[in-house]
Amino acid sequence: MNTGNEQHYDIVIVGGGMVGSTMACLLRESPFQIALVDRMDITNRQAKFGADSEKLDPRVSALTAASKKLFTELGVWGDVEKQRCCNYYDMNVWDADGTGSISFAAAELNQPELGTIVENSILNEALYRHISEQENLSFLAPVRIESHRDADKFSRLITESGNSISAKLVIAADGANSKIRELCGFRTREWDYNHHAIVTTVRTELPHQQTALQRFIETGPLAFLPLAKSAVDHEQNYCSIVWSAIPERAEELLALDDEEFCAELTQCIESRLGTIQWCDERFSFPLRQRHAVDYVKGNVVLIGDAAHSIHPLAGQGVNLGFLDAAVLARELVHGQQVGRSVADPTVLGRYQRKRIGHNLGMMWLMEGFKHLFAEQALPIRWLRNIGMSGVDNVSAVKNQLARRAMGLDW
Ligand SMILES: Cc1cc2nc3c(=O)[nH]c(=O)nc-3n(C[C@H](O)[C@H](O)[C@H](O)COP(=O)(O)OP(=O)(O)OC[C@H]3O[C@@H](n4cnc5c(N)ncnc54)[C@H](O)[C@@H]3O)c2cc1C
Repeated sequence: MNTGNEQHYDIVIVGGGMVGSTMACLLRESPFQIALVDRMDITNRQAKFGADSEKLDPRVSALTAASKKLFTELGVWGDVEKQRCCNYYDMNVWDADGTGSISFAAAELNQPELGTIVENSILNEALYRHISEQENLSFLAPVRIESHRDADKFSRLITESGNSISAKLVIAADGANSKIRELCGFRTREWDYNHHAIVTTVRTELPHQQTALQRFIETGPLAFLPLAKSAVDHEQNYCSIVWSAIPERAEELLALDDEEFCAELTQCIESRLGTIQWCDERFSFPLRQRHAVDYVKGNVVLIGDAAHSIHPLAGQGVNLGFLDAAVLARELVHGQQVGRSVADPTVLGRYQRKRIGHNLGMMWLMEGFKHLFAEQALPIRWLRNIGMSGVDNVSAVKNQLARRAMGLDW
């Protein structure tokens, strides 16, 4: 509904990234009138990387079985598979300092696969295609939200161009540096990982055989995630790499020319995929752990990276965000069915209770891993190696770890 210069909605979702778009899609059958707002003109990015582009997106996500199930139920997964994605069936993790190693296999866990690597732009494009025809949704982009004001029982969001959008409920899905979180004064606990993640796409001499590799190096973990170059890719020689390193090392790696970088990468992954023959443009992201103390304040609620950001070493970040969206959507629809208003504190409180502990648990688990592998004291290194091989031999513990990482047991 529009009055004068102001547009009114039941729900405004700020941020049309993977989590915000999923949130919008989950509410497609609800009676709410929704606006999804993003500051970016997404068509530019899609043209560069999306399904119609030969170029692989340097930003990829390892999606868990739980996320895949969610997208299958939403009818989005078929579109992703038709474009490009790569299931991985095995994962090998090893330690550069000793002999510790651990491996996971889908077959051992009686699962069809361990997970699926999807380019972020492919998933976003599939989601946009679905929500573009959603009757209860207006997609406003490029529109940047600049300020937030509390009005009586609703929020007024002011855009960069001075327009006003009002909502009974604001869902902030605007990422790790959330403007809404800042404007509304949500407190966070945060600390620097002292790591930068370098991401790029590489071509390898040997096929990846749909196996994910992760090597823990003194300066941070290096991951190789298998990619599909097209819907049917027999060559299997493209991978996305996420190389987390202390800032000095990251700077060194970014300063190398492509040939030197490929040589360094070949050596650091111990030539497990033969020679690295080519790399695409490299991008670097500072890594910071951040967790909002509360996810709800009045009629504003945080989801995805706006609520929590986590080290990418176990590929959990966006998967946690999808679970936030799924739980919030369920609570909102249930609340509406029993006659509660959209921003009812009981409804939003149930969302917070269901998600905050789970997210915190995963963040602590990842923090533990990061510290364990950053620790260079000899007894810790020894214990770590024994621990890794020990865990590898104790299948019950290993299976439980894997099932948690796959989102099967939470
Ligand atoms: C190197 C790296 C590798 C990763 N690998 C994995 C992985 O394998 N698996 C995994 O699960 N996770 C991974 N993650 C984490 C994952 O990328 C994030 O969890 C995910 O992108 C968060 O999605 P989001 O939609 O919450 O936020 P974002 O993707 O940040 O989206 C936020 C959106 O909000 C919009 N926006 C921001 N401010 C405004 C504003 N003021 N007005 C309007 N719009 C606004 C932005 O344009 C953007 O579209 C990785 C992260 C990094 C850095």
